[in-house]
Amino acid sequence: MTSTMEALVYEAPREMVLRRLPAPEPGPGEVLVRVAYSGICGSELSGFLGQSSIRTPPLVFGHELAGHVESVGDGVDGLAAGQTVTANPLVTCGQCRYCAAGVEQRCPQRLLLGASLPGCNAELVVVPASRVLPVPEGTDLRQASLVEPAAFALHAVEAAGTSEAPALVVGAGPIGLLIVQALVASGAPAPLVAELNPARAAMAERAGAQLVALADVRGVDLAFDAVGSEGTRQAAFASLAPGGTLILVGLHTDATSLPLNRAVRDELAVRGVFAYAHRHVAHALDGIASGRLGLAEGVVEAPLADGAQWYQRLIDGDPAAKVLLVPGAGA
Ligand SMILES: [Zn+2]
Ligand SMILES: [Zn+2]
Repeated sequence: MTSTMEALVYEAPREMVLRRLPAPEPGPGEVLVRVAYSGICGSELSGFLGQSSIRTPPLVFGHELAGHVESVGDGVDGLAAGQTVTANPLVTCGQCRYCAAGVEQRCPQRLLLGASLPGCNAELVVVPASRVLPVPEGTDLRQASLVEPAAFALHAVEAAGTSEAPALVVGAGPIGLLIVQALVASGAPAPLVAELNPARAAMAERAGAQLVALADVRGVDLAFDAVGSEGTRQAAFASLAPGGTLILVGLHTDATSLPLNRAVRDELAVRGVFAYAHRHVAHALDGIASGRLGLAEGVVEAPLADGAQWYQRLIDGDPAAKVLLVPGAGA
């Protein structure tokens, strides 16, 4: 008798259906995790619409998780059934020059849960043991499921370096909000946040940001674009002071035109930041466990069966800071 599990399967653009699939088993060096929470990531919304080259049906989405160890494969030490865990969903080769240098997010062999590997929108998911992190006792499991976006935010702030003057953060979705927190936690002055959605703007303000109208901002040394549309990139670029840096983290639109002669004359830097190295994930978990990072409000829990509806609601502009899908919760 093979055991089965519930999984939310992406079968075609805008079609995600709860199915019973064979339960996966952990191979050598792998851990089987029973998923308690699976967060919907903004980066998956284009996939839901069928616009992502790395997400092709049939596929179980999901790369933000917290749960419990169900079982471990051969050769796994230090993790046992029942333990509370979260995971770094970016699986890298460990051999190439990027992995060796601790910038494994650049690994040409990188694989992501929920894209090139089966994801956590399911009761069970397999994760390499090297990517599993035990959650410190007393940590809220919902917050622990946010390590992945929190790690991305920490990486973005680290890549930007320090700035004496307030930085501009464009977009107060989950990544923008976590960048605000990471800046505040690093001792930087209260960031300026541009966000059109009033509910998200209010969350950013309560997280310590000062709200601004994007078109009015000029002369910042550091700007983060956490949206990635042509308009936000152009406005964030225009906001920079001479010598300023624009950090790109949003992935909404591919081609964007920028007046790069200004980058030459004013010595501007434009830098992309992608994902995180494993150390950022470990730091993010520390930050969450100590309460410095996390989403204090706007976290919505929903049954896994309602997943498709929530992907659509987020595309339609629902202001939830994070939707956590709960397997086995019943519709
Ligand atoms: Zn994510
Ligand atoms: Zn590698």
